[in-house]
Amino acid sequence: MTLNWGVFHPESLLGANDPYQLSPLLPGETIIYCENCNLGFHATTVEFLRAQNGGRCSACNVPNRWRTYTLPGGSAVKTPEGVDTPAAAGTLVKLDRIWEHVGQFVTFEGYVHQVYQSRSSGTWFVKFEDTRSPLAGFRLVIYNGYTKAWTSEGLDIKTYEGATLRVRGLIRNDPAWGIQMLIDRPEVISIVDDGKRNPDPGSHSDNEDDDDDAGFPLDPDGDGPPSQRIIWKV
Ligand SMILES: [Zn+2]
Repeated sequence: MTLNWGVFHPESLLGANDPYQLSPLLPGETIIYCENCNLGFHATTVEFLRAQNGGRCSACNVPNRWRTYTLPGGSAVKTPEGVDTPAAAGTLVKLDRIWEHVGQFVTFEGYVHQVYQSRSSGTWFVKFEDTRSPLAGFRLVIYNGYTKAWTSEGLDIKTYEGATLRVRGLIRNDPAWGIQMLIDRPEVISIVDDGKRNPDPGSHSDNEDDDDDAGFPLDPDGDGPPSQRIIWKV
């Protein structure tokens, strides 16, 4: 990567995608950019990179060259995954309407057909559509590195299976990975109806499709929360 001292203007990052979450940096958002490669990230991404990637930039791999910058624009939105954005509470979206809300903050409500954890990456997929492939249909995506936020609250992502959830977040349609909502903390999820779930710790929904998500973007191997079922770890 080339250094662009004196040339780079961080406001040029407005509208650019966070290379990790692949969602745009928004007007008024307080972002963090890498001084080495000048790519901008959501604050939540850098928080994650600091915790799980030794503070190294996911693009250029240089550690701890982060600079905070608030993008111009009138919005009060701090981060696309912000918990308390007014927009998040405004719209209740169900599965049949999600495609109308791609790129928007919404409150989504839906029944969880399956909770699946990738063997290769540890990433969790909370699936709202009853599809064979773990990567088909609308789902929540929780990187393994974030699962500590659940275990520290005594929560088990697996128990979302069979429940009806209400979730606040940004619906995005990733060109490679389809329609999804990246979730990094349990606070944005509430259980509307816990359904007839069967939290048998011996059973899980991993199946022959396990490796369909191999290469899911930039999911560093977290240390793995001890109480989670880290089936990919020996
Ligand atoms: Zn960088």
